[in-house]
Amino acid sequence: MPRQHKSLPRLFVDHPLSVDGQLKLDKAQSNYLVNVLRLKKGGEVILFNGQDGAFRASLVHDSKKAAELALHDRTSTQTLPSKIDYIFAPIKTARLDFMVQKATEMGVNALRPVQTQHTQMARINYDRMQANAIEAAEQCEILNVPEVHEATTLEKLIANWDETDPDRILIFADEETDVANAAEALQPYTDHQVAVLIGPEGGFSEAERTLLRAQKFCVPISLGPRILRADTAAIVALTLVQSNIGDLR
Ligand code: SAM
Repeated sequence: MPRQHKSLPRLFVDHPLSVDGQLKLDKAQSNYLVNVLRLKKGGEVILFNGQDGAFRASLVHDSKKAAELALHDRTSTQTLPSKIDYIFAPIKTARLDFMVQKATEMGVNALRPVQTQHTQMARINYDRMQANAIEAAEQCEILNVPEVHEATTLEKLIANWDETDPDRILIFADEETDVANAAEALQPYTDHQVAVLIGPEGGFSEAERTLLRAQKFCVPISLGPRILRADTAAIVALTLVQSNIGDLR
């Protein structure tokens, strides 16, 4: 299907959107449109908010501090959130930025940091993670910005698992599993909600691996014969899941 308006800049706004609506932007977004993108009066942009779909809008007031947009037609209806949550041990900032952007591009529904024994980064910058997810969604015509969750521990994640959805599956990227054929291992879960878990650069501890493998909702998969860096493992695991039981099928 030809993509309409693909040359127009896209902007995520935390504000209800409707046809013929009017929107006053905050200082940061006004500066972005007027100074960074150099949008002039009458210039067009695509707005989305993760709820109402996407809308074509034009600049009616080009103030650098309080720009205003007039909304015209809806260009896309809201897409359904994907069934994939992404759970990861936080890694160093630059790689974490990359990993959050790629997980967003791969269509994940939620970003769930988890603290493990060998996790490198104790302090998490949630605003930065959110900003990276929004930027990736703006760049890649994604209408669902993944929800950023508070970090939890692996033990708590597992202890609270059933409370959410008993049919939800935890796909655990395990560099020591003998389940070599990930595609085969994933086949039974086509209709399940899934979460993909990637460990820290230092890997899971033996106790954590034993805990994970003991869970009936946990499906260990191999990402191949090479030990991948965590951010690479994220892309490989999400590609395997999307191509076997997700929207790349
Ligand atoms: N330090 C670990 C080691 O040497 O065994 C490697 C950890 S790896 C850098 C980071 C995470 O990526 C792992 O915890 C795992 O979740 C995932 N990963 C990397 N390569 C993998 C593979 N070949 N199969 C399954 N998972 C893998």
